Amino acid sequence: MEFNVLSNDRSKGGIYIIRNLINDKIYIGGSVNFKRRYNEHHRDLLQGKHTNPKLQRSINKYGLENFTFSIVEVCCEDDIIKREEFWINELAVIDNGYNILATARGINKEARAKIAATMKLKPGFFTGKKHTAEANLQNSLKHKGIKPSPETVKKIVDTRKRNGYRHSEATRKKLADRRTGHPFILSEDDIKRRAATFKNTWAEKRILVNELCINCNNTFQKRAMYKNKKVCPRCKKLQ
Ligand SMILES: [Zn+2]
Repeated sequence: MEFNVLSNDRSKGGIYIIRNLINDKIYIGGSVNFKRRYNEHHRDLLQGKHTNPKLQRSINKYGLENFTFSIVEVCCEDDIIKREEFWINELAVIDNGYNILATARGINKEARAKIAATMKLKPGFFTGKKHTAEANLQNSLKHKGIKPSPETVKKIVDTRKRNGYRHSEATRKKLADRRTGHPFILSEDDIKRRAATFKNTWAEKRILVNELCINCNNTFQKRAMYKNKKVCPRCKKLQ
């Protein structure tokens, strides 16, 4: 299962999607840490012990390599349940995908309680882990492929302080949001745009349409995504 998440987002939380590349079926989940959740899914699915039987059966059938894990939306811990419900409804994954309403909720609640308990022992995950100016700069340089010595970093930070360096408005807002525990929230426009993209690439393809069988001339139903399916299931069986 490909972990389709940028390194910057790996330890963030929010809503993720597991997608079957063969039939486009999806699973929507929420977690406070994408990387950790991915590892749990991967381990359980490999061992055949995943708590979601629909997903496990499909993995057994299609193979783990035909699934991807990617982010739908990064959001703060408090919003995860709400946003997960939004996406599950928006993409109709209970009917068409791998999500199972009652059980999934129960498991998630339990898992969340556990996570919440862990979080209390480690304050600062979502509530604003405090990076020093040095650590921030070091990180940003590392991402650009530069490995600075601590002395260099200190020099740059000192210079910035001397010159009254300030973060940009956007960065300052981000930092403020992080301190208040509401980081990484997407704008309504962003959410709508993402919803539209998912609808186009997934939900609309799965709509049931009528097709005329070229063999027996009877009408049958198929998913819109199977453009080349021109023979009804009954005739297909006889072929
Ligand atoms: Zn037919």
